[in-house]
Amino acid sequence: MLNELTIAETVRRVRAREISARQVTQACIDRVKKIDGDLKAFLSYDEADALAQADAIDQTSDRDRPLLGVPIGMKDVLSVKGHPLNCSSRILGDFRAIYDATVVQKLRDAGAIIFGRLNMDEFAMGSSTENSAFFTTRNPWDLARIPGGSSGGSAAAVAADEVIATLGSDTGGSIRQPAALCGCVGFKPTYGRVSRYGLVAFASSLDQIGPFTKDIRDCATLLTVISGHDPFDSTSVPQAAPDYTKALDGNIKGLKLGLPREYVVGGLDPEVKAAVTAAVENLQKQGAEIVEISLPHTDYAVAVYYIVATAEASANLARFDGIRYGIRENGADPIELYSKTRGAGFGPEVKRRIILGTYVLSSGYYDAFYLRAQKVRTLIRNDFLRAFEKVDAIVTPTTPTAAFKAGEKSDDPLQMYLSDIFTISCNLAGICGLSMPCGFTKNPKLPIGLQFLGKPFGEETILKLAHAYEQSTAWHKEKSPIGR
Ligand code: GLN
Repeated sequence: MLNELTIAETVRRVRAREISARQVTQACIDRVKKIDGDLKAFLSYDEADALAQADAIDQTSDRDRPLLGVPIGMKDVLSVKGHPLNCSSRILGDFRAIYDATVVQKLRDAGAIIFGRLNMDEFAMGSSTENSAFFTTRNPWDLARIPGGSSGGSAAAVAADEVIATLGSDTGGSIRQPAALCGCVGFKPTYGRVSRYGLVAFASSLDQIGPFTKDIRDCATLLTVISGHDPFDSTSVPQAAPDYTKALDGNIKGLKLGLPREYVVGGLDPEVKAAVTAAVENLQKQGAEIVEISLPHTDYAVAVYYIVATAEASANLARFDGIRYGIRENGADPIELYSKTRGAGFGPEVKRRIILGTYVLSSGYYDAFYLRAQKVRTLIRNDFLRAFEKVDAIVTPTTPTAAFKAGEKSDDPLQMYLSDIFTISCNLAGICGLSMPCGFTKNPKLPIGLQFLGKPFGEETILKLAHAYEQSTAWHKEKSPIGR
């Protein structure tokens, strides 16, 4: 079952010519054909194109590349030249991307095969993929449940072994939360670490692209490939990316790990709490020092996020007007054309956020809401910077509960917003974070996620901790039951 391989195993075997890139790609395609009718992670894929890329890899003499022959799926928010780009929205119609995102170009250079378009909440707004205009992706551990979101397709596809790894984007938790709910590894890099060129913007000051993988080594490999400065993204930092796999040395002795007092909240599920507590004890046994810390402005994070993110989204989504891209509903004048097009093309959650974002930016309310939110955002960032003077990393649950049922929260946006309480501050502060499996609930059996938060550009430290934990547990080896 070549689709079940990790990146490390795939590259080793393709390089040794034990297997071909075509065989790996074909195994992924077969798996998608077998289970995706139920899982619904993919919006579309181009079989002939994927196999042609694989054949090119099999013929290349440049075989030292870090992702040689590895099929990687893309969230439907990343531009892949000539392929559909919809952001799981109706408004883009039959639009196809006209260039490769920088991360896509980097993957190609590294020898990867770019495969398929993965489902998501429309324009990355949501926590369950139920806001996709097309269909809801299912959780591979229980098809009655959601995979998380907004990168639900990216997480489900990895957890179900439809593909070796995927990319997603994280604005308030959209990589870490679905990784936790599907039982795989997800990484949100420090703001500026990875180029956003070719990523359709949701909230530009919060968005980062990151990997979904089956284990921490793969995560470090993929992160190394996609990181680095890009002249096409002025917010990418002009600082070379290290080889993150070098940090995986297992030595966490003396590292100080902060436990935020404010993250022990009412809605925290007892099984999640127990799994995270056990993980912390494991790390302590391996020599990490546990320190209680305080992030006093935590309570404001969700409110601040829904002002900053909606404000930025209202500006970013102005470009979908029926003139430049996608569908057009004609009107008597341009204003009528815009409103008919946007009325028909956007779903309810996107409209809700555009209205909210326009409101908080409007004259008279700007100072009371947007400006105030920006000030509190600084306080939240300062909470983290102060904590990082005392600790090397922070550990928390990724989500308060395991995966919920489809439909359970979709009528109540506020309940849905709360599923991101542990992930949202990380984006507001611009720091890095990852989620990895740390256990399962009993009945039903659903994955539980452990979150590490790191200093700005502290990717190596949290990868080191995550790797040390992973090496002493077997959670990442458990396979979701779908189609097996
Ligand atoms: N769930 C959050 C939201 O709905 C975060 C989404 C994201 O990270 N893209 O905005």
